Parts: sequence; structure tokens; C-alpha cells
Amino acid sequence: MQLESMYQEIILDHYRNPHGRGLREPFDAEVHHVNPTCGDEVTLRVRLDGGSIADVSYEGMGCSISQASVSAMHDLVVGRTVTEALATGEDFMTLMQSKGDPAVADKLEDSLEDAVAFAGVSKYPARVKCALMSWMALKDASARALSAAHPTTPTGGNDS
Ligand code: ZN
Repeated sequence: MQLESMYQEIILDHYRNPHGRGLREPFDAEVHHVNPTCGDEVTLRVRLDGGSIADVSYEGMGCSISQASVSAMHDLVVGRTVTEALATGEDFMTLMQSKGDPAVADKLEDSLEDAVAFAGVSKYPARVKCALMSWMALKDASARALSAAHPTTPTGGNDS
């Protein structure tokens, strides 16, 4: 199987069977992001546990790339620290700027796992925004969750 069609299979699989989809409670921040050029939308919630991402839950609609990207991102960031998740987001940004260079995809494969399948999207500037929307939403939600948690952190810790 050719790499390109294998990548397409991975994207279609996430689109048809999205991982972690649905809005769950509790959550620390919720954001709504849109990509007007394509009509993609995502509502994304982040639940933190200390400095780690305990859950990312979401609902969205739009093209297969935008929706598959949220699913692949969910797998990559849940259970990681916010710092690690944002670093992975930077790697994904690098992939989206690679203009289809296979060397970049090769280098980032370990870090991005299934999300490396979006390498082919980087050849199409209009579709890059579709793939990046979920990561922008995550960055936004994480920042809000962290700043919301900071001033109100109780001394005894909250729920278990
Ligand atoms: Zn799109």
C-alpha cells in the first residue's frame, strides 16, 4: 500500500470512528473555534488534573480533515502534561508547514503517531487551516483552563 493511501485510510478511520468524541463533564474550559474558509466548527472542552490533561472532549462538524484531526489530537494529548501537549502541537504545526516534504513527516512520526497522516494536507494551504483548527482550540482551551485554575486553587485540593 502506498504511503499516501495509507495516510488517507488513517484520516478516514478517525473521521468515521472519532476517538473521545462527545462533550463531557466536568471540564475547566470550553472553547468554540471555526474555520470560516471551509465551514468547519469545533466545540472543545479541556479537563486538567494538576498540570496534566485529564480529558479532551469535543463536538464538531465540517470536513473529514478537520474532524479527523480532533480525533487524532485527542489520542495524542490526553494523559500528557499541558507542556507536552503544546510541544506536540508545535510539531504538528511544523508538519503543516512542510509542504509535503517526506523528510519532515519521517522525523515527526514518533511524536505525532496517527497525526503524521496529515502530512499530505500540508501541500494544500487551504486545507492546512482545517487540520490546525483542533490544535488552535486546544491551545486556547488549555490557556483558559490554566488561568482559571490559578487564582482559585484551594489549599486542600478539590475532588478526587
Ligand atoms: Zn475543512
